[in-house]
Amino acid sequence: MTLVVKVGGAAGNALDPVLDDLAGRNDYVLVHGGSERVDALGAALGRPSSYYTSPSGVVSRRSDPAHLEVVVLALAGAVQTELVAGLDRRGVRAIGLSGVDARLLLARRKEGAREVVEGRVLRLADDRSGTIERVDAELLRALLRLGLVPVVGPPAITSDGTIVNVDADRVAASVAQSLGAEALILLTNVPGLLRDRADPTSVIPTVARDAVDAVLPFAEGRMRKKVLAAQAALKGGVGRVVIGPSGGTAPVERALAGGGTVFA
Ligand code: ADP
Repeated sequence: MTLVVKVGGAAGNALDPVLDDLAGRNDYVLVHGGSERVDALGAALGRPSSYYTSPSGVVSRRSDPAHLEVVVLALAGAVQTELVAGLDRRGVRAIGLSGVDARLLLARRKEGAREVVEGRVLRLADDRSGTIERVDAELLRALLRLGLVPVVGPPAITSDGTIVNVDADRVAASVAQSLGAEALILLTNVPGLLRDRADPTSVIPTVARDAVDAVLPFAEGRMRKKVLAAQAALKGGVGRVVIGPSGGTAPVERALAGGGTVFA
């Protein structure tokens, strides 16, 4: 079985239980985000993160060149290196790759991105964000055959060699699709997709693959990206997608056993 596991980066995500759980497996690609680290490093460097809301209500990080530099330092630098070291401590040989390495994640620049400011729709200035068009699945398979666990995260690269930011949940969905993964596990700081965001017991347990649109209204802000990524992965042939909690013991095993919200 090929598995793609994505660990979140927002505050409240637990990494050690995920790495402990993964240490016993050899059939997966680990994808990471790291929004909290990007925010912290950006603040320390005097380049605080800023977010915008698209006309369709999706919240994204602003990725002008100065912010993109922070993303590269925090994600391809700190977070990825620490995940590789965390797997190493558990006896796993892992290799960190951003989408730029060997063109692992080929993207096209988003043209004409728009933001909503006080009810008005404006063109986003100086945007360096992209949409993934192709994943080099052969490279990932070759690494897995060598006994290396790929640890993959943003940014991506365009065909003319421009570094662009991409959403980590989308990275996970694209990687899972390219590998024909049986399951994509999106681990985050909440128990799953909640019917009522303020009530952690209101997890929606299952969503049929053709009924994802019906639960989209429950997903606000960045959860919306996860649900859209889940939908894209299913359309791309991934067997099932689980949004589940990164905390507690054996989060990957629990997600595979149906803990969280299962899209299938
Ligand atoms: P990560 O860094 O783990 O990828 P994000 O912060 O990007 O996490 O997304 C998870 C967040 O989405 C939750 O912490 C929560 O604040 C928010 N959210 C919005 N709507 C929902 C919902 N219906 N159910 C669960 N979480 C939601």
